[in-house]
Amino acid sequence: MKAAVLEGRGALAYRDVPTPEPGPAEVLLRVRASSVCGSDIHRFVRGHRTYPIILGHEAAGVITAAGPGADPSLVGRHAALVPLVPDHACLECLAGRFSACRSYSFIGSRRAGAFAQYVALPAANAFIVPDDLPFEAAALIEPSTVARHMLDLGSFTAGQSAIVFGAGSIGLMLVQWLRILGASLIVASDVVEANLDAARALGAHVTLNPTRDDVPAEVRRRTGAGVDLALEAAGSPAALAQTIEVARPRGSVVLGGNQPADASLPMSFVENLMRRELRLSGCFMSYSAPWPGHEWTDGLAAVLDGGLDMAAMISHRAPLGDAPAIFEAIGEHRFAHRKIVFDPFAGAADA
Ligand SMILES: [Zn+2]
Repeated sequence: MKAAVLEGRGALAYRDVPTPEPGPAEVLLRVRASSVCGSDIHRFVRGHRTYPIILGHEAAGVITAAGPGADPSLVGRHAALVPLVPDHACLECLAGRFSACRSYSFIGSRRAGAFAQYVALPAANAFIVPDDLPFEAAALIEPSTVARHMLDLGSFTAGQSAIVFGAGSIGLMLVQWLRILGASLIVASDVVEANLDAARALGAHVTLNPTRDDVPAEVRRRTGAGVDLALEAAGSPAALAQTIEVARPRGSVVLGGNQPADASLPMSFVENLMRRELRLSGCFMSYSAPWPGHEWTDGLAAVLDGGLDMAAMISHRAPLGDAPAIFEAIGEHRFAHRKIVFDPFAGAADA
């Protein structure tokens, strides 16, 4: 089969690799849509722990084979890929905290992913979707679940106000979930005007650009005490610092963006956290019990009823063979994009 293989830092090769065989309790997914996550780009630019590796964990397709012990009636069903592979046995898993599993694997970073024509995965990692759901929409359920999980961690309830820092893929999913779940005020903050335009189109009531606006002052002007919930999806130290300033006393802050490891925070961050008695949560992945979690079933339901607009998230559709050139262009910051969705069979022969 054809796959885009990360062979070293900054080295992505589109080439032939052996088609995987589904192992015990696994199925084989014929990948029909596979979208690019920021973490894939990070692994391409900064390097990864092992090579060669097939990246890609936002994907959907058709189950074409069942391994020993897997339900053969799954063959022919359409499925979205659930990337976390927990052991379902350790204390964290038994408590439903799957992302803290002591011995997890992850499709597309620790084992072969979906920038390929086929991917083998545990049957429990095939999230069955209706046949008439577009594959690209099914592939984007995964990033939507991360945003849904962030709102859980912030104990969001209908009628609350919220600010989203970073209107990239996760940020735009957050804006959509806030609209769906009945936020009274949705503010989006980003330095890129095109991202703010998208946020406005998807439900943000107010958009702020920190290169132009005093974000904390604007939020206080509109809310008085601050928002109920501040969500960091920018991975920006400046945005992180502002989360504390814009949350109301006893409000919540959820951190979902990967921050640069060499940045640091002033201790005034902690002092403000204490003085305002804020609740601060980190977010890692998107799972809850029962596996894989209501984040996934909610995501599917919201796509099917039209609440989650996945098409608006996509800026580019390309054959998988274009992946090396696209990753190189992104790595050199000469490719503005939102979601990029690869079709592994466009312009390529079947395996
Ligand atoms: Zn576990």
